[in-house]
Amino acid sequence: MSDHKASCVHCGRTSEQVPLLSITFQSDQYWICPQHLPVLIHKPQMLVGKLPGVENLKAEGHDHH
Ligand SMILES: [Zn+2]
Repeated sequence: MSDHKASCVHCGRTSEQVPLLSITFQSDQYWICPQHLPVLIHKPQMLVGKLPGVENLKAEGHDHH
């Protein structure tokens, strides 16, 4: 990834458009906007392909069996 400009891993908006939260994951730094932070917490699988290694995360809490 050559373009390391801060942008939300989900929607791609930059810190000029929305506040961005910095996250560090596997020694790399990423950014996510507050609107999509719940996606990271509750539906990390939606970020597969955007956040390398995110498939190793498990959605928190409520398992419906
Ligand atoms: Zn976003």
